[in-house]
Amino acid sequence: MLPARPGRSTGTRRLLTPDQIRVLLPLPLAEPFTYRAGEVGPLSPGDIVEVPIGNRVSLGVVWDGPPEGLPPAKLKAVLRRCDAPPLSSALRRLVDWVAGYTLNPSGAVLKMCLPEPRALVEPPPMRQVLRPGEAIEMRASAQRERVLQVAAERPGLSPGELAEAAAVSVAVVRKLIELGALQADSTPAFRPPPPPDWRRQGRALNTSQAEAAAGLRAAVAARDFSVTLLEGVTGAGKTEVYYEAVAEALKTGRQVLVLLPEIALTQQSLDRFEQRFGAPAWAWHSEMAEGRRAATLRAIGHGEAKVVIGARSALFLPYADLGLIVVDEEHDASYKQEEGVIYNARDMAVVRAKQEGIAVVLASATPSLESLHNVSRRRYAHAVLPERHGAATLPRIDIVDLRKERLPAQRFISAPLQTAIRETVGNGEQAMLFLNRRGYAPLTLCGACGHRLQCPNCAAWLVEHKRHGRLQCHHCGHQQRLPDACPSCGAEDRFKACGPGVERLAEEAAMLFPEARLAVMASDTANSPQQIGEMLTRMENREIDILVGTQIVAKGHHFPLLTLVGVIDADLGLAGGDPRAAERTHQLLTQVSGRAGRADHPGRVLLQSFLPEHPVIAALSRHDNAGFIAAEMAERQRAGMPPFGRLAAIILSGTDQAQVQQAARDLARVAPRAPGLTVLGPAPAPLHYLRGRFRERLLLKAAREVDVPAVLREWLSKFRLPSAVKRAVDVDPYSFL
Ligand code: ADP
Ligand code: ZN
Repeated sequence: MLPARPGRSTGTRRLLTPDQIRVLLPLPLAEPFTYRAGEVGPLSPGDIVEVPIGNRVSLGVVWDGPPEGLPPAKLKAVLRRCDAPPLSSALRRLVDWVAGYTLNPSGAVLKMCLPEPRALVEPPPMRQVLRPGEAIEMRASAQRERVLQVAAERPGLSPGELAEAAAVSVAVVRKLIELGALQADSTPAFRPPPPPDWRRQGRALNTSQAEAAAGLRAAVAARDFSVTLLEGVTGAGKTEVYYEAVAEALKTGRQVLVLLPEIALTQQSLDRFEQRFGAPAWAWHSEMAEGRRAATLRAIGHGEAKVVIGARSALFLPYADLGLIVVDEEHDASYKQEEGVIYNARDMAVVRAKQEGIAVVLASATPSLESLHNVSRRRYAHAVLPERHGAATLPRIDIVDLRKERLPAQRFISAPLQTAIRETVGNGEQAMLFLNRRGYAPLTLCGACGHRLQCPNCAAWLVEHKRHGRLQCHHCGHQQRLPDACPSCGAEDRFKACGPGVERLAEEAAMLFPEARLAVMASDTANSPQQIGEMLTRMENREIDILVGTQIVAKGHHFPLLTLVGVIDADLGLAGGDPRAAERTHQLLTQVSGRAGRADHPGRVLLQSFLPEHPVIAALSRHDNAGFIAAEMAERQRAGMPPFGRLAAIILSGTDQAQVQQAARDLARVAPRAPGLTVLGPAPAPLHYLRGRFRERLLLKAAREVDVPAVLREWLSKFRLPSAVKRAVDVDPYSFL
């Protein structure tokens, strides 16, 4: 059992017996292993098998390519071919492609395809359901009669449910089963919902919507690879339009995947889907219970799940017959997975669509520069919805110049914003205050000596969360109580909160508007789709006057009576060394502004800023999206930054700072030197200490035509890192921390 190498000479292939196969295991191993097919019989690539590995048994997938041709005596035999749908060749190619592009072992990527490996191969979990059995002679009792009566009225309950409904113990129910008075049958624990009905009519589309929808339908019907960027201002009806493409794919019996950047958006999206198609879609995200995940994976693999709405991890699942992928809010940085296999689900969705030979739709009000550039290079089609649907107009955006509107210390709502809130709430409309910072205050310091409370594991300040009565590190999750005395000077009760988080902002709003009904929404106050759903419902039902929130409130939601958005700190995202800082701030503020005035009530946005002349802020206030994009594109081109050039980051980390620095210098010494390549660093990462590890960054900058993964592979093969130093490779980085 040795790793097989692909593409060996024909001399080796001669040794091959047809009995030998390659099996890729869902483990971080670079290569498939070679096994004997043994008694299991003929196997084909994609088959899911059970194989011995060490002294364990693992599931694996029969992989493509010639095995190594080892003497059969050295090889272990495959134990069993599982009764499961095989992994398609498109998905196998995707695994190899993603592994190659991200410099990860294929097995680590395979694991993302089979997150619950057993789910596909094991029979679905069953549950016992009861109905009345034969009439039999038995001792009658009030309890027994109640049970039999409920069983007759409501057949199909489980023993536990029946016992509860009849208010008896489960033992009573069990006894009746034993006596034959109740008949027990078993049925699958999860019954798939009925398939969505593609015949149902959507809303009547306006002219530009109809045109865009026709283009998307044609792309799906073509059964060939294509990418369409669906660009439309917030509220233009992008969802209505891509539903037409969904209907087209469903018409031909194929499956559809809709990716969303945040699980926060799934509930709303599921509800809306059900309204449109008369049956629910399947959700996929990290907060699902294990049983539900397994059932969903099974339904995906067997083609029963026709439409999946999910987070980025839904991209790699083994769909039986995928016909369309939609990436909603395609510009969103949450599509980037930053741990393990580091990848961008938006980009990998395009790769998957290519392997599958299907259409992909990228939807956004503020498309990424990458996608816009692909449109201008004519690699992507462009469908544009230039206006909000119906009477809704885009909100008016005004800047509050904080250099003139001086705020008292530790106060964050300016006078013009206060006036606007008062008017809005007074009119019976709703206001939203946006601040992209969780907790109460981003920094706590000692008023006596100036000592700042820092995370013990990270180079980061602890963030106060009053609601939980704790200080938290937003990077590693460390939590502690506010100490009684300053750890540096011993002064007691002298801690001061500096700067605002949403909790503190809400406190100020409550003080200014004591009559208003206020709610706070951040990823730590509402983190399950249900909690978020409840909050959104309260908002829709006008049970909230002022909603204070982080970026979780910025995206996708549609509140008809929300007419005022106040952005507390419009400059927040502009600082720092992220080459996309301007683009991202522009996107985020456009998104959050887009929440205002979505129905027939005109909306208004106030941006509080110290930098009113900054191109991002100025463009927002003029609604000059095109001007901003053109200027930003020109700047990127001048600097050779994406989408005109390529980037890849290497992050080394370890507990011994000197060792990490030395390794980074050694690695830099063997850096590739060629025209079109620049290596920046090594330098301590902005977050130079994280989870107890010191971090050094190197950045490779390359011309667009460079094969960056190949360059990285060559480079990294030249230097063996000490085993205590960990390496992460981030191709097309989105985070520069
Ligand atoms: P986007 O995704 O572009 O922000 P949505 O698809 O969410 O826009 O549409 C915004 C609102 O306008 C939604 O309430 C939607 O139901 C409504 N809407 C969009 N298009 C139509 C249409 N053709 N007829 C009726 N309502 C529409
Ligand atoms: Zn920390």
